[in-house]
Amino acid sequence: MPSDPLSGKRVVILGLARQGTALAEFLAGIDARVTVSDMRPREMLAAPLADLAEIKRLHPRTYVETIRSATPAHDLVWLDPDTAMSPKSFEAALRAAGAAIYAVDQVMTGAVDNAFCAIRPPGHHAEPGRAMGFCLFNNIAIAALHARDVHGAERVAVVDFDVHHGNGTQAAFWPHQDLFYGSTHQMPLFPGTGALGETGVGNIWNAPLDPGDGREAFNDAFLSRILPALHNFSPDVVLISAGFDAHRDDPLAQIRLLEPDFAWVTEQLLEMAEKHAGGRVVSTLEGGYDLGALGRSTAAHVQALMGAAS
Ligand SMILES: [Zn+2]
Repeated sequence: MPSDPLSGKRVVILGLARQGTALAEFLAGIDARVTVSDMRPREMLAAPLADLAEIKRLHPRTYVETIRSATPAHDLVWLDPDTAMSPKSFEAALRAAGAAIYAVDQVMTGAVDNAFCAIRPPGHHAEPGRAMGFCLFNNIAIAALHARDVHGAERVAVVDFDVHHGNGTQAAFWPHQDLFYGSTHQMPLFPGTGALGETGVGNIWNAPLDPGDGREAFNDAFLSRILPALHNFSPDVVLISAGFDAHRDDPLAQIRLLEPDFAWVTEQLLEMAEKHAGGRVVSTLEGGYDLGALGRSTAAHVQALMGAAS
C-alpha cells in the first residue's frame, strides 16, 4: 500500500467503473479531479462482490431474493417511482456493498488509514426489507454490522451529510445502543423522516436543515449537536454516508453548501476519529446529482481524507 513519506494518510479508493457506461464516465469525472488536484499517492481498486451472507446480516433472505429475481433481462424494471433496476443493477449493488465491506476490512486491520468508496447505487434509503430512493442494499449499514460482528468494533458510528435523511440506516440502527446515526438533511424533503424527535434509544441524532440554509446552519448542526453526541458515543470506527447533494448547484434540494464545506466536515470527522477511533474512517458515496459539483465536492472530501485539504 503506498504511503506518502512526507505526510498524509494512506487512503484506498474503491469504485466499480466499467468502461463505456454512463456510470464509468461519472466516476471518471470524480477520479480525474482527484488525480489532477493532488499528487499524494493513493491506491484505486475495483470493488469486489459482496458475499450474500454479508448482505443478509442486514437484509432478510426473502428481500435479497426478491431483488435478485426482479432483475430484468433488458431495459429497466421499476421497484417504486424512484428506484429502477437494469440487467446489471444487482451486480452493481453487490459491488457497492462489497466495496464498503472491503474498505472496513482494510481500515479495521490497519492496512490503510481510511477509505472512500466511489459507488453507486447509493444505500442509505434502503430499509432492511424495502428498496427505496435509488437504493437496493444499505451499503453503510451493512459495513457497520460487518465492523461490529466480524472485527469486534464495540461502537460503530455512521455520520450522514447527504441532503436527504437516511431513513434506511436509521431504521436499521434504531434499537441498537452500540450503533450511532447522526444526520444533517433538508426538511421537508424526501423521504420525510429525520425529525429532531426521532432518537431511537438515544443513539439517533437528527439535525434537520431548512431549505435555503448554508454553511452557517450546517456548521452549527455539527458543532452544537452531532459532534458532541459523537464525542460522547466514543466510536471505535467512523463511517460516513457522503452525499454531495447539499451542494448549492444540486438540482434535488435547496441547501447551499460549497466544496470547502465538505472538506470542513470531513476534517471534523477525522479529528473525532483520531480522538476515539484510532483515526479509522470509511466513507461511501451516497447522492449528488450535479455532476460538476459532485466531482469537485468528492475531490475536496477525498483530499481531506488524505490529510491534504487546504
Ligand atoms: Zn441524497
